[in-house]
Amino acid sequence: AAKNDGRGRARSFNRSMLIMLEQREMLRRGLRVALQERQFFLEYQPLIETDAIVGFEALLRWQHPYAGIVPPAVFIPLAEADGLMVEIGEWVLEQACRQAVNWPEHFTVAVNLSPAEFLRKGLTDRVANTLDSAGLSAERLELEITESVLLERTANNLDTLHTLEVMGIRISLDDFGTQYSSLAYLKNFPFDTIKIDRYFIKDVETDEKSQAIVRAIVALAHGLGMRVTAEGVETAAQAAWLRKLRCDRLQGNLLGAATPPDSIRNFLRQSSMASQRSALEDF
Ligand code: C2E
Ligand code: MG
Ligand code: MG
Ligand code: MG
Repeated sequence: AAKNDGRGRARSFNRSMLIMLEQREMLRRGLRVALQERQFFLEYQPLIETDAIVGFEALLRWQHPYAGIVPPAVFIPLAEADGLMVEIGEWVLEQACRQAVNWPEHFTVAVNLSPAEFLRKGLTDRVANTLDSAGLSAERLELEITESVLLERTANNLDTLHTLEVMGIRISLDDFGTQYSSLAYLKNFPFDTIKIDRYFIKDVETDEKSQAIVRAIVALAHGLGMRVTAEGVETAAQAAWLRKLRCDRLQGNLLGAATPPDSIRNFLRQSSMASQRSALEDF
């Protein structure tokens, strides 16, 4: 136990640190068996373009035997550090393709790739094989990467992105504006879509700076022939602003939170968007 500072502070600080470390250790150990024990599952969050769902983003969840549902922000860094993320990511891609093949044909599926997954050799072959065995056409798959992926090994990255593009897969640049945001990426890489991080969306109805930034990103993207998605849209006022600022796609709890695959049909049924109901007939 730690030395007490006389008022119990050092002790309680260290105790909570210890609890945190023990939890981390428990999660790390758990991750090693989570795949075999089938503790992972995917939820899907709708992507909306002018009032119609155009696709869903797959979001990974871990149903831990004691800890409940662990969010990806907690376990993905641990999995990355332990070299487990590549294998988990392969499962995600496989699962997402197999589920999406049952959806109406005009819906795409977006899958997030962490840096380790993107940078690993053989990605394009693995993606091609996965699409093939699922029977999903490449045009229905979007891969989301973040700027941090593009920091290293630029020539290889460019090759990978071009190969994926030639295959017909669309690439989105996720969480745009929060990391390095080098404009050189936008000049050199064939992104289909830029996803503006929630940071600029959460106050877009009141903050003129956020409005100016969104407006500038939209102009930049459209000038480069790219689409723009706004992430984390929670209010009707935000949605109205984002439409006014010419964002092509909206995503967020206002339009639909992440939902398990077997609720997608119900989601469409309850949707107020008339265009969704016709999509149901394709199920
Ligand atoms: P992301 O790709 O930027 O995904 C969007 C995150 O915002 C998701 O969090 C989603 O649930 C959340 N979100 C959506 N709408 C709203 C909203 O209106 N308000 C708020 N506050 N949040 C909203 P989630 O599911 O916890 O995922 C966090 C991050 O974990 C993702 O960010 C992505 O970077 C990563 N991730 C998730 N699934 C996977 C995966 O299968 N593979 C990899 N490599 N990363 C994943
Ligand atoms: Mg994403
Ligand atoms: Mg994002
Ligand atoms: Mg984000």
